[in-house]
Amino acid sequence: QADMALFQAKRAGRDTLRFFDPAMQAQLHARARLEADLRQALARDEFLLHYQPQVDADRRMIGVEALLRWQHPERGMVSPGDFIPLAEENRLIVPIGGWVLEAACRQLVAWAADPATADLTVSVNVSPQQFREAAFVDHVLATLASTGARPERLKLEVTESLFVDDRDEARETMRRLREHGVTFALDDFGTGYSSLSYLKRLPLDQLKIDQSFVRDLLEDEASAAIVASTIALSESLELEVIAEGVETEAQRAWLVAHGCHAFQGYLFGRPVPVEALVLSC
Ligand code: C2E
Ligand code: MG
Ligand code: MG
Ligand code: MG
Repeated sequence: QADMALFQAKRAGRDTLRFFDPAMQAQLHARARLEADLRQALARDEFLLHYQPQVDADRRMIGVEALLRWQHPERGMVSPGDFIPLAEENRLIVPIGGWVLEAACRQLVAWAADPATADLTVSVNVSPQQFREAAFVDHVLATLASTGARPERLKLEVTESLFVDDRDEARETMRRLREHGVTFALDDFGTGYSSLSYLKRLPLDQLKIDQSFVRDLLEDEASAAIVASTIALSESLELEVIAEGVETEAQRAWLVAHGCHAFQGYLFGRPVPVEALVLSC
């Protein structure tokens, strides 16, 4: 097959651009199509949010994480792992992230009317490209103002990659939003490449223990040690801590025994449309 491609490429001559590897060509073609579809998705109203419960030690829902879904007309539901990296590369994540933020704030307002849901927080994932936009702070504040959502109920999830180079700028962005009551969680904690020293200087509220450590907790001593240290670290830095990807009772029991009292994972509920959320898991 490779020989054939080489033959075709030679036959095509010098003035024709040909890829040597048909598999690669097919891949690039599929990617270009996905990108074209992604550019239309906002206008065609194809995005929706699913919400995954975050619970306390009594299994009461204390908040949710908003997770983006793309309802593609032919492909069906596309998961974020399949389109967010692409959206980050071509910066479509900026308008898409704006849509997510607004939808999450509207949900907060809908919940504010009912005492049973008024205290829930909504965590929203923010991509570095979005966070580094000059207008990011103004955009978040404008969205809070136009929807009427309470800033204290909005938690922005950022990742360590933000703090690798422009630490001071990131801190300033967070400080300005936090002044208005918005809180910050550090997502996927422990999987990035940044140093721990940033932790003491950043205005963070919560560490999210990455699901890869939680998954291996009971089989792998190194993962257990990392989780125990993260819980201890958040205690001494006076940060909240939440474990992601909790799937079994045994993992939950281990986490409770080691001082973690907030959880997110399939054990308590998968990400679902808002109507399917249950207040107590
Ligand atoms: P994340 O922010 O770390 O979100 C947690 C992911 O773990 C979600 O995958 C969730 O469905 C999955 N998960 C939750 N509990 C469990 C569990 O018990 N076991 C397992 N195996 N998985 C669990 P999802 O929804 O596919 O999202 C993947 C990633 O895509 C997110 O990781 C986040 O980085 C990104 N993402 C999702 N929505 C958005 C968004 O609105 N904006 C941006 N920038 N990124 C988003
Ligand atoms: Mg997240
Ligand atoms: Mg995570
Ligand atoms: Mg992640």
